[in-house]
Amino acid sequence: MKAMVLENICRLDENARPLRMITLPDPVPGKGEIVLKLSVCGVCHTELDEIEGRTPPTVLPMVLGHQAVGRVAAIGLDANRFTKGDRVGVAWIFSACGSCDFCRTGRENLCSEFLATGRDANGGYAEYMCVSEDFVYAIPDRLEDAEAAPLLCAGAIGYRSMRLAGVSNGQHLGLTGFGASAHLVLKMVTHRYPESKVFVFARSKKEREFARDLGACWAGNIGEPPPEPLDAVIDTTPAWKPVMEALKCLRPGGRLVINAIRKESRDSDLLMQLDYPVHLWMEKEIKSVANVARQDVREFLEIAADIPIKPEYREYALEDANTALMELKHGKIRGAKVLRIG
Ligand SMILES: [Zn+2]
Ligand SMILES: [Zn+2]
Repeated sequence: MKAMVLENICRLDENARPLRMITLPDPVPGKGEIVLKLSVCGVCHTELDEIEGRTPPTVLPMVLGHQAVGRVAAIGLDANRFTKGDRVGVAWIFSACGSCDFCRTGRENLCSEFLATGRDANGGYAEYMCVSEDFVYAIPDRLEDAEAAPLLCAGAIGYRSMRLAGVSNGQHLGLTGFGASAHLVLKMVTHRYPESKVFVFARSKKEREFARDLGACWAGNIGEPPPEPLDAVIDTTPAWKPVMEALKCLRPGGRLVINAIRKESRDSDLLMQLDYPVHLWMEKEIKSVANVARQDVREFLEIAADIPIKPEYREYALEDANTALMELKHGKIRGAKVLRIG
């Protein structure tokens, strides 16, 4: 099969073509596994963190990609949840131990044996992928393959971030950064919490316009004060300035949820300017969101199909994965990016 693989960790400002197209043997399903013939795979900011070594693949070469959609092409021994031809997707959670405290209480995203798709096992930047049938989701009929792919990570983790933010209808929500995940959160909030106002902070004018088009009541640059204080903020940026600025905008008791697997260190010295009365006093909270549990993906796919929430996306051919990644790196974003495989 054709696959775009990462062979070496590198800096994207020194190497704009980190992935290479190679031919790998077609995967064969083991016990409890299925093989999918993929049609699309979403492109996620986490791929940049993998390539640059902030959360490096456990082995190289690695097929990246964790928002894969395709059809069941082969079924291993004792796998019986799906039949050939079923349309399914794979998300960031590739597997977890299934027996620790976290796994037994639905918090498998925190399992110490958590394995990530496209980082710890080959993912979706390829024609086929092999996965345990227990970590696969049926795709609702109402969603096209390319519409469903960004929901598997950007959407599901946005949904988890919303839950952790604890926002209720009528409360004010801030979003710092406005990429694939944030634009899906905005779409979800406008349907589920119609009385809530959403304030978007983004560097680029294009992103701010996009946010207003999708229903944000206000959009400004990072650091610009919003017209009203915020009950919660979800941060999807790789930087620290948005964290410091968001804390200033929170109402007493407000919560900042950081939805980023790793932060870049470029502006981490700003953290030394943390001023307790300004940034944290009055019971303000900071919480990170780590990975996703299967329940997040299942529930969000249902909600998305029901409303429906469809992502804005742009398609690239599999062999153009490097172009998609560089455009993501440089913030040429409007919604999500999806690789078309077959
Ligand atoms: Zn992702
Ligand atoms: Zn576990």
